[in-house]
Amino acid sequence: MDRNVDVLVVGAGPVGLALALDLGDSGVDVAVIDRAPRPSRGPRQPPRRSGACLESGMPPRVSAFGHQARDFLARMGAWGSLDAADVVPFTEVQVFDGQGTGQLSFDALNTGMSELGFIVTNDGLAAVLASRLDLIENVSLYPETTVKEIAPCAEGFSVETGEGTFRAHLLVGADGSRSAVRQVAGHRTWGWSYEQQAVVATIELARPHASVARQWFGEHGILALLPLAAPHLCSIVLSTRQADMWLAMDDETFCQRLTAVVEGIQVLGTDTRYTFPLSQRHSFRYVSPHVALVGDAAHTIHPLAGQGANIGLADAEALATSIKRGHLEGRVPGNDVDLLQYERARRPENYAVGLAMEAFVRGYQSGTPGMTWLRNQGMKLLDRNRTAKALLTQVASARTHVR
Ligand SMILES: Cc1cc2nc3c(=O)[nH]c(=O)nc-3n(C[C@H](O)[C@H](O)[C@H](O)COP(=O)(O)OP(=O)(O)OC[C@H]3O[C@@H](n4cnc5c(N)ncnc54)[C@H](O)[C@@H]3O)c2cc1C
Repeated sequence: MDRNVDVLVVGAGPVGLALALDLGDSGVDVAVIDRAPRPSRGPRQPPRRSGACLESGMPPRVSAFGHQARDFLARMGAWGSLDAADVVPFTEVQVFDGQGTGQLSFDALNTGMSELGFIVTNDGLAAVLASRLDLIENVSLYPETTVKEIAPCAEGFSVETGEGTFRAHLLVGADGSRSAVRQVAGHRTWGWSYEQQAVVATIELARPHASVARQWFGEHGILALLPLAAPHLCSIVLSTRQADMWLAMDDETFCQRLTAVVEGIQVLGTDTRYTFPLSQRHSFRYVSPHVALVGDAAHTIHPLAGQGANIGLADAEALATSIKRGHLEGRVPGNDVDLLQYERARRPENYAVGLAMEAFVRGYQSGTPGMTWLRNQGMKLLDRNRTAKALLTQVASARTHVR
């Protein structure tokens, strides 16, 4: 099977799928390929626990989304199609400095919002995006299709896969942090590994989470507790240098150690634990003739503020807007005018978000008494300053853009 298309998206993660869906009303011919099977939503079973061993019935991966991502997904009809078990609003964020006495909380009520953001299951969102694509004529999804070779051709780029060859005017790398498209296009990157991993699991608490997202910074690393649809279930992301130790613990010890970190909230059980390596990496360029990078292919950041997929979706929206505008004005996708417009729209904001994450990570990695005191005083001051808090809350919920 050989196909000529206007836009070939490599990668059917949330960003590649959202880009393709947004191009659905453009008249541009789009193909999306991914080596993984077609995205699907796993069955949701009621939680069962035996001692500290939990079968939560939930998928291990979730993402926090702000209002901007919600609005984008809603515009394409995807948000409204999410199952209630796959999307949970959170109304408050509490941040604790485990090495001191600092505490900071953001409450939706104080800023006139009904929620600060949403926790969404990754498989639920991917399945909805894929099924929305099925309704669109000019977009085709090719799962289980692995890139073998990418080469320039008369149209732009040709991509050889096990299933045939695709030729496209615009090749989009939505293929994640180890992007093959980025490498073939010769885009250099800057960044570093954190020498940390994220330990991810679903846990059960003794008391309801009350729709509050919580985060502790301390000697253990950075621990986030994200509320899920069932009132006692949370997803955890523990960013730590000691992932092996946390993985090696039996369930009971793991729950006891987590209980010690989360001060006063008893952790009753844990589902299977998974780990993900953490790094910060940015591509110097997002575009080159006939190539664009979006999402983690362009930038990978620390997950402590849950921004990676948010800024990736903003990339998808911006690139789709540039392609559609160019198409209306008679330009073929992959031209320099539209690609540069996309890069100008997104790169500064993504760099700023990445550097902000870096400041947080470095600030909290410093264990010197002076730094701990400064952090605690800063958190207390900020917690009392209503104007600064209102602004930070809006930035955190992506109502106000970092520019
Ligand atoms: C522990 C953790 C927690 C996180 N929490 C949040 C959060 O709360 N909020 C948030 O916004 N972000 C969060 N993130 C970041 C978020 O997960 C990523 O930014 C997001 O998944 C990037 O989406 P993507 O579509 O760009 O890439 P990916 O999700 O990596 O998708 C890339 C796709 O490309 C495919 N692919 C790769 N190579 C090839 C190839 N050669 N041929 C064919 N297909 C290929 C892969 O199969 C995959 O489907 C978190 C990240 C981690 C690690």
